[in-house]
Amino acid sequence: MQSPLLPHPDRCFIAGDWVKPASGTTIAVTDPSTGAPLVEIAKGGANDIDAAVAAARAAFEGDWGRMPAAERGRILARIGALVQENVEALAELEARDVGKPLTQARNDAIALARYMEFYAGSADKLMGETIPYLEGYTVYTLREAHGVTGHIIPWNYPMQIIGRSVGAALTTGNACVLKPAEEACLTALAFAELAHRAGLPAGALNVVPGLGEEAGAALSGHGGVDHLSFTGSVPVGKLIQKAAADHVVPVTLELGGKSPQVVFADADLDAALPFLVNAGIQNAGQTCSASSRILVEASRYAEVVEKMAARYAALRCGPAMDDLDVGPLVSAAQKEIVEGFLNLSDGLEVAAQGTIADDAPAGGAYVAPRLFAAKDPSHRLAQDEIFGPVQLVIPFADEDEATAIANGTDFGLVASCWTRDGARQMRMARKLRAGQVFLNNYGAGGGVELPFGGRGLSGHGREKGFEALYGFTTLKTVAALHG
Ligand code: ADP
Repeated sequence: MQSPLLPHPDRCFIAGDWVKPASGTTIAVTDPSTGAPLVEIAKGGANDIDAAVAAARAAFEGDWGRMPAAERGRILARIGALVQENVEALAELEARDVGKPLTQARNDAIALARYMEFYAGSADKLMGETIPYLEGYTVYTLREAHGVTGHIIPWNYPMQIIGRSVGAALTTGNACVLKPAEEACLTALAFAELAHRAGLPAGALNVVPGLGEEAGAALSGHGGVDHLSFTGSVPVGKLIQKAAADHVVPVTLELGGKSPQVVFADADLDAALPFLVNAGIQNAGQTCSASSRILVEASRYAEVVEKMAARYAALRCGPAMDDLDVGPLVSAAQKEIVEGFLNLSDGLEVAAQGTIADDAPAGGAYVAPRLFAAKDPSHRLAQDEIFGPVQLVIPFADEDEATAIANGTDFGLVASCWTRDGARQMRMARKLRAGQVFLNNYGAGGGVELPFGGRGLSGHGREKGFEALYGFTTLKTVAALHG
C-alpha cells in the first residue's frame, strides 16, 4: 500500500532511520474490509528491540534528554501541526488497515493531533514543590523522566493510544520504544515519519513492528527499559506486569472493561439513547471503554429495549471506506472470537440486529451488531469482554441493585449514570467502581484532558490529561542542609 507518509512500511524506525528488521522477514497484513492482502510489515524481534532501546538510551542521555522542556514542547507542537495537516492521509491508512469507518478513523487522527497539542503545552508546566521542613533545611521535589519507556499498544485505537502514551512520555523527556500491534502498524509508522519531519531528535521515538510474543515480549522483558505502558488484553497484561516485575520497573496497564450505563426511570431518554447505542457499536465494539451493559430501572426497561432495538435495526455494517455505522472487525480471527461469544448466548433474547450491506465483500470480517435483552447479569456475555458490536440490556429494581450489578464484574474502567436527581448523581459517582464516571453522558467525546484508567482487571495507572505526566516521571526529593 502506497502512502507519502510511509516511505518504508516493511521496516522499523530506529535511531531516526528506516531499517530492515534483523530477521529480514515481513508479516502479511490483510484488509479486513475485503480479506485481500494489504501490506507487508517488518517482522521485528529481539535484535531490533535491542537496537531501539540502545537508540532511545542514547537519545535520553544526549540531546533529547538534555533539551529544555519548552523546546520539547515546541517539537511536540510541530508534530501536532503536521498530524493535523495529514489527518485525511492518516485516516485513510487506519481505515484500510483496521477496517474502521473513515469518519471514526478521522476522529482518531484529530485526537492524535489534539494529544500532541495538549502535551506540547504541558511540557514546561510540570513542577515540583518546596516542602516546609526542619530549621536550616530547604527541601524540594523534582519530577524527572524515567529514561527509556516501552509502549506496547493494541490495534483498536493506535493513534489515540500513541497520543496519550507516547505524547505524555515524550513531553516529560523520556525516549520511547513503541511496539504497535501486528494488525495495525501503519499509523504508528506514519507518526514516526511525521515526528521525524517535525524535528524530533533521532532515537527519541523508535518503532518496532512485530509479533507480540517476539518483539512485544523482547520489549517488555528488556533490562534497558525503565517504564512500560501496555494497552491490550488481560492475559497479555498479566505477562507484561510479570515481565516488569523481573526488572522492578513501573508499569501502566489498561486492559479493557465491561462498562455499564445505568439508566434510572427519571432519565431523559431522548438524550440518553444515542449515547447508549453509540458507546456499544463505535469501532464495532472493539473499544476498551465500550459500554457493553445497559442497566435500566424496571419500570422503563421495555421502553429502552424497544427504542434501542429500533436504532439497532437501522444500523448498517460495511467496508471502512464506505463509512457506514459499523465497519468489519479487525481480522477474521477477531470475528471468530466474537462469533464464539454469540454462540454462547443461550438464555438471552435477541432484541434486534443490524444489517451487513449487500455489497460488503464476502471475505470481510463482518459481524452484524446485536442487541440482547438479558435478565441475568451473571450470564457469561454480561461478564466477559466481547470486543465486538454486542450490547446487553439488563433490568434493575433500585439504586442498590443497580450499583451491585454495575460493579458486579471483574472490570472497572468506565461507568455512567443517567438520572435527573442531583443527589443520586453524586451518590452514584462515588459508588460506581470505575476510573471514569460520566453523569448524563458517556465518554465526554474522548476527552484528551481527562485522566483515564482502570480498577480491577481493567488495569492500573492513569493515562491522558495532566495526570499522565506524573506516571511518566519519577519524583526526586532534594533536602539541603544549609544552616
Ligand atoms: P488484543 O486482544 O487487543 O489483540 P493483545 O493483548 O493480544 O490484545 O495485544 C496487545 C499488544 O500486545 C499487541 O501489540 C501485541 O502484539 C502485544 N502482545 C501480544 N502478546 C504479547 C506478549 N506475550 N508479550 C508482549 N506483548 C505482547
